[in-house]
Amino acid sequence: MSWFIRKEKGIITPTEMKREAPDGLWYQCPNCKKIMHTREHKLNAYTCVHCNYHEKIGSEAYFGLLFDNNQFTELDADMISADPLTFTDTKTYPDRVRSTIKKTGLKDAVRTAYGKMNEVDITIACMDFGFIGGSMGSVVGEKIARAIDHSLQTKTPFLMISRSGGARMMEAGFSLMQMAKTSAKLALLSEAQIPYISLLTDPTTGGVTASFAMLGDFNIAEPEALIGFAGPRVIRETIGKDLPKGFQSAEFVLEHGFLDFIVDRKDLKDKVSSLLQMLQ
Ligand SMILES: [Zn+2]
Repeated sequence: MSWFIRKEKGIITPTEMKREAPDGLWYQCPNCKKIMHTREHKLNAYTCVHCNYHEKIGSEAYFGLLFDNNQFTELDADMISADPLTFTDTKTYPDRVRSTIKKTGLKDAVRTAYGKMNEVDITIACMDFGFIGGSMGSVVGEKIARAIDHSLQTKTPFLMISRSGGARMMEAGFSLMQMAKTSAKLALLSEAQIPYISLLTDPTTGGVTASFAMLGDFNIAEPEALIGFAGPRVIRETIGKDLPKGFQSAEFVLEHGFLDFIVDRKDLKDKVSSLLQMLQ
């Protein structure tokens, strides 16, 4: 006979009666499943203290990590997308943009800003994957182009942090034009001998990889980031062959000569700063 007999069957506790830790207090690593305090996780640059998994973060977190005292001036903060093709999928494109703005608090998939990093002036553009998969539409291209203009005018180095699924299908050809536009602007930056560092984070794919993300004076990446043009499934189906192990990981891409180095996010600020010092 067991020492405890449940008298009532099917006890149901309403959600509001359940006692749990307040939301957002703990972070569970999706890789090793271990749990840590969100504050500890944040202090560790949003990487797992157990397995070093780099959580996918957006512009707000990167600006906080990189700009001294989280102080920066944002450029073109209110630019939002038009609907050049009157595109509709499951909903109209303007509806999708509106609901994404409401959901994420962002205006589009990139934010650009300037400020100081380790006391040196820098312009940073950072993509947000939460905004329609970090897709590159006209606003993304235009904001990056203008951020590069700002770098040119103020002669400050430019850091691009990419995280994107590629072009934005709702803007079709207009998206693809952003590849040429941003690349042309980067050529001007190169002519003016202003350093451009491109950081590829998980994932960086499609038209973003095929344009500004791979055009850095230094192309660097976070550990284990997926970097590629087409996704592995599409390639496998196209060539009808299995892909090598670790294909399209930052480590694989580094080994094949497409990256300069992989940087742990905890070292990002100092590494980029010392790199810029060397380039001066
Ligand atoms: Zn972990």
